Amino acid sequence: MIPFLSLKDVTALHGEEIQEAVAKVVAGGWYLQGEQNALFERHYAQYIGTSHCVGCANGLDALIWIFRAYIELGAMKPGDEVIVPANTYIATLLAITENGLRPVLVEPRPDTLEIDDARIEEAITDRTRAIAIVHLYGRNAYTEKIGALCRKYGLKLVEDNAQAHGCHVPDGRRTGSVGDAAGHSFYPGKNLGALGDGGAVTTDDPALADAVRTLANYGSQKKYIFKYTGRNSRLDEIQAAVLDVKLKYLEADNAHRKAIAACYYGNIQNPLVSMPERLPDAQNVYHLFPVFSSRRDELQAYLKENGVGTLIHYPIPPHKQECYRELAHYSLPITEKIATQELSIPIGPCISQADAAAVVSLINSFSL
Ligand SMILES: *Cc1c(COP(=O)(O)O)cnc(C)c1O
Repeated sequence: MIPFLSLKDVTALHGEEIQEAVAKVVAGGWYLQGEQNALFERHYAQYIGTSHCVGCANGLDALIWIFRAYIELGAMKPGDEVIVPANTYIATLLAITENGLRPVLVEPRPDTLEIDDARIEEAITDRTRAIAIVHLYGRNAYTEKIGALCRKYGLKLVEDNAQAHGCHVPDGRRTGSVGDAAGHSFYPGKNLGALGDGGAVTTDDPALADAVRTLANYGSQKKYIFKYTGRNSRLDEIQAAVLDVKLKYLEADNAHRKAIAACYYGNIQNPLVSMPERLPDAQNVYHLFPVFSSRRDELQAYLKENGVGTLIHYPIPPHKQECYRELAHYSLPITEKIATQELSIPIGPCISQADAAAVVSLINSFSL
């Protein structure tokens, strides 16, 4: 059996150190807004390359707070438009619509799977205030052209870095540091995962960091004084302590993912199966390893019969979801094709080269 991802094994990789860190917080008696949060925020900001990091409850909230903070700071108002890739996890869109902003969907490139920067300018109107890019599957989505469009039209660049902790853009900066603000998720299965929910916003903008921190703490900076109608959306001390341990090993964990990906890229060979364009290793932290097949469902069933777990990211794109009926008019053939053909095969910090080789030989002998 080769599971898609065994979280038990992922935790066990650094198990003792994690147990110790948790025990220390439990014994210390301080569970929220304490030194573990301060420490992790400092280390993570340093790692990403921004001057600020604000921990919050989860990745969706991180993205929600970025847009809400821009509204509170007067940079956007409800009804304004945000350009967003059509093929993303629904959280990116939820963060936009939760704030009364309007998502404008742009197709990805079929070879890179990331937002097609050649299609962005035609989607810009006089109501556009931001471009949200998503480093989907752990692949860098930032291009010089996207940066130039933001400068030309005065748009905020918001990064959804939920799947790409440790990834770089072509000029060497880390994803999460090239936009005006970035939302990060520490959902357990992410490259940097907590033992529960967690998230963060990184930015170089002190006013934005301040607003996000305030919003995520009831809208309060000073006890019992409320500046915004915020919510309770904080990162707890136990999760911050766990994340601070795991951050030390993120580079090594990502290197392991890259070695597994190299095995897949070098050896998968089947006319029924294709892979996305291979990026330089610095620009992909392989949160997922997507393959494509017009016989995807049969491939998934075949792998399952042979003991290999897979997942689909994602079977139904946002504009086809019941909750987004207002987006149903979009015609997005590339996004829809990805949804019908994508299959994510096992990758992570624990899978062995032998297991990866077994996945390869199964895929190579898949036939109809
Ligand atoms: C996981 C994820 C999120 C949301 O993060 P949560 O911590 O689960 O709320 C947002 N965007 C993308 C692309 C994700 O993969």
